[in-house]
Amino acid sequence: MSQDIRKLMIDVCLRMNSSGINQGTSGNLSVRTDRGFLITPTSLRYEIMKPEDIVEMDFEGRYEGLHRPSSEWRFHRDILAARPDRNVVLHCHSVFATSLAVHRIGIPAFHYMIGLAGGSEIRCASYAAYGTQELSDYALEALGELDACLLANHGQIAIGADLERALRLAIEVENLARGYLQARILGEPVRLNDAEMSQVLEQMRRMRYGQPPDLDGVQSRAQPLS
Ligand code: 13P
Ligand code: ZN
Repeated sequence: MSQDIRKLMIDVCLRMNSSGINQGTSGNLSVRTDRGFLITPTSLRYEIMKPEDIVEMDFEGRYEGLHRPSSEWRFHRDILAARPDRNVVLHCHSVFATSLAVHRIGIPAFHYMIGLAGGSEIRCASYAAYGTQELSDYALEALGELDACLLANHGQIAIGADLERALRLAIEVENLARGYLQARILGEPVRLNDAEMSQVLEQMRRMRYGQPPDLDGVQSRAQPLS
């Protein structure tokens, strides 16, 4: 079971790089387990990573494995602890999200897809050095009840109920960051107001919009679409 999760984690790390939202050994990934969480080891190339290279940690920061855990284990631990409804934390250095984050600005409601992160904006966390408890504290604050945030002068974090959702959201955050930067060429774009975003969020909840289909649930086509 754990071996299967480890394989899926490596697959997501490889997809993180092949999709263009990360490169080299940057970024890291964790998945909640019964005893704590599994996390990618620090500085090991994803191309040569094997299931046994993934490190197991508990919430006190003790680890078991062949390697040291990711230098960012603190924010993985703290986010998993603060968000019991989310089982995966993904961090990457996607270029467009980072381009906004170096200016310390987040992504506003310039496009309805911002709602996929769970609210009307994606905030940028204050700066702290990588691998520190301070960075974890800032990340947690920027995240709040949302599923994504930017990290000043660093990158982004996306979280999800499972690996697929976390990866999809990270790719979407990057796409939104790219669109926002592009739109700003002509000045600050028009933002959706609170009422418009509430409508979007309500519609997304109702339609389970942007979520991978429930493959074992049979959808009835006899029901009218609402
Ligand atoms: P690790 O290789 O230690 O996971 O570090 C990568 C990174 O992105 C640090 O912020
Ligand atoms: Zn990083």
